[in-house]
Amino acid sequence: MLIRILGAHSCESRATRCVCILVDDRLAIDAGGLTSSLSILDQQKLKAILLTHQHYDHIRDVPMVALTLYRCRTNVEVYSTPDVLDTIETHLLNGIVYPRFQEIPKEKPTISLNAIVPYKTRIINGYGVLPVPVNHDGITVGYQISDAKRKTIFYTADTGPGLTDCWKCLSPQLLIIDVTVPDSYQKFATETGHLTPSLLSEELMQFQEIKGYLPQIVLIHMDPILEKETTEDIKRISEAFNTPITIAYEGMKLYI
Ligand SMILES: [Zn+2]
Ligand SMILES: [Zn+2]
Repeated sequence: MLIRILGAHSCESRATRCVCILVDDRLAIDAGGLTSSLSILDQQKLKAILLTHQHYDHIRDVPMVALTLYRCRTNVEVYSTPDVLDTIETHLLNGIVYPRFQEIPKEKPTISLNAIVPYKTRIINGYGVLPVPVNHDGITVGYQISDAKRKTIFYTADTGPGLTDCWKCLSPQLLIIDVTVPDSYQKFATETGHLTPSLLSEELMQFQEIKGYLPQIVLIHMDPILEKETTEDIKRISEAFNTPITIAYEGMKLYI
């Protein structure tokens, strides 16, 4: 399984893009830096987009990719919770902000909106996709993705602490997990549903206790303004666990 990190941050700038993960060039998870990272040809290779929650930094490129695919006369399946799909229909693809690509062209609309059910594995383009609720705004789900060779990743989405129940139903080889701000912003992190390096450390301890191992760990959704301080905190956590903890960056490729 090839995982490409197209967007790794919580803020966009010339050097950073909002979160977007691409699996084997055809399955995207979240649509932050999706279109700005892919050629028109590569956008046409997309088969499905899984959305974790309705915050703008995670859904923003759905209209943009829809326009490309509409112009290229192809289409893509979008999967998320009913709430997120409703937000897209009401606020983005509403015929005012952008065309209702879920209805045009009539014979085969560019976008198909598909509701997922938390804790229910669904086969999407040959991958087993398991949505698992995490601790963020409203209903936010992380996704465990497994391929035919049983290679498995879990992307938490934006999440705060309290993932014990989540760990019980997962067995990833690679964990891509939210760490947005440094330890000095712990109050902000818990109030907004994100992790700091120290909060991550507690979640990893729980994971190790429940599962008996630690997966490969990659951190995502970092605030670029505070990245230096966060990186220093992460070094300490990595040393304490005696395991490499990698920070995601735009263009990163991971093979499992
Ligand atoms: Zn969010
Ligand atoms: Zn976010």
